[in-house]
Amino acid sequence: MTAITNHMPTAELQALDAAHHLHPFTHGDALNKKGARVITRAKGVTLTDSEGHDYLDAMAGLWCVNIGYGREELADAAARQMKELPYYNTFFQTTHVPAIALADRLAQLTPYDLNHVFFASSGSEANDTNIRLVRTYWEQKGHPEKKAIISRKNAYHGSSMGSASLGGMSAMHAQGGMPIPDIHHIDQPYWYGEGKDTDPAEFGLERARQLEAKILELGEDKVAAFIGEPVQGAGGVIVAPDTYWPEIQRICKKYNILLIADEVICGFGRTGKWFGSETFDINPDVMTIAKGVSSGYAPLGGSLVSDEVAEVLNGCEFAHGYTYSGHPVTCAVALENLRILDEEGIVTRVGSETAPYLKEKWETLAAHPLVGEASVCGLMGSIALSPDKANRAKFAAEAGTAGLICREHCFSNGLIMRHVGDRMVISPPLVITKSEIDTLVERANIALDLAHKQLK
Ligand code: PLP
Repeated sequence: MTAITNHMPTAELQALDAAHHLHPFTHGDALNKKGARVITRAKGVTLTDSEGHDYLDAMAGLWCVNIGYGREELADAAARQMKELPYYNTFFQTTHVPAIALADRLAQLTPYDLNHVFFASSGSEANDTNIRLVRTYWEQKGHPEKKAIISRKNAYHGSSMGSASLGGMSAMHAQGGMPIPDIHHIDQPYWYGEGKDTDPAEFGLERARQLEAKILELGEDKVAAFIGEPVQGAGGVIVAPDTYWPEIQRICKKYNILLIADEVICGFGRTGKWFGSETFDINPDVMTIAKGVSSGYAPLGGSLVSDEVAEVLNGCEFAHGYTYSGHPVTCAVALENLRILDEEGIVTRVGSETAPYLKEKWETLAAHPLVGEASVCGLMGSIALSPDKANRAKFAAEAGTAGLICREHCFSNGLIMRHVGDRMVISPPLVITKSEIDTLVERANIALDLAHKQLK
């Protein structure tokens, strides 16, 4: 049998890939026509493909490689742990040092009294945990009828049945019988796209108050929790108006429902503070984490809960767990990642230097004839492509075509940006330098010029 390696011709790798590999969020026709891009190596913020082309990865993989690529300390931490204890579970009253140490570190890092973590291997698993966790919490408190969870349209909370049901992506709900029962969706706080000529502050309040209306419609005694991303990431990097989160917080308190902040993208420095909840002054009862906690070097997710929620849950045996909950190798990798983020001042630098710099540069893109809006929160940015920016018009062609065209021009100019419909988004590694930000914005401008010519 021939070994399949990086040295094989790209076309052969692509043919094998198309023959045997079912890809997430990829149309089979596209794979057969063009083949997948084969990534072979990475260092810092740069990816290299099998043809030797370099790309500035403005997406940090899938919003996750916060410390950048190629940090050998994480490989060493994994190797050390694999040699000492490669696996043991945390079921049935058992534990091990990496899980103890990571739980302790997370309790220190997270805000408020989110001092307890239930480990999973991904954000999807963690959000599935959250569904069972908040319902079990209310059952334990004598309110088994409090089951409903309210989320937002165009939210992304994962791909499993539970987490995709929590999400509000219509294309996902169209496949496979979702959402599962007792999940409800209100409108998103997307002022640019849906606010028309309302005042953003008023719009923020109106969208938050849809939560109150939904609670009253379902019955206060039926609602377990509200879930939201501090900034909607996969929905297009949508930052709610300032009035939104305080009102959501007020409503959750008033009606005694748990607030789940899904920090899978926002956590671990992305918004310029350690957590989006700190940036937006949200005080959640439950927080979902994944991605940046291990910078994607090993799969890890988790649900952080408050002292009060933990106390109630600990009053029973929570009949829930994953083989890899608190996997020792993953925990060791995450601990090393968190040490680097902290000791190298990476999160602090995002808040004080690189995020303000990105904002200054990124917002210049708003002057481009194709760009209706350019916005930034920490090291996350987005632009809305529009054929008529004064009226915030959308492209008449099939939604997403303009974004797709622009994304392809980014690729051919050495930049990885993602499109969400006709919004282009970025979320680079947190170690990106100012000069790399200059390169990112220059390349984005070139791609926009080319897309503009093509779309005319
Ligand atoms: N929650 C949010 C906010 C996400 O952005 C994602 C993934 O992008 C998830 C949950 C799901 O995480 P995972 O892909 O690790 O299952």
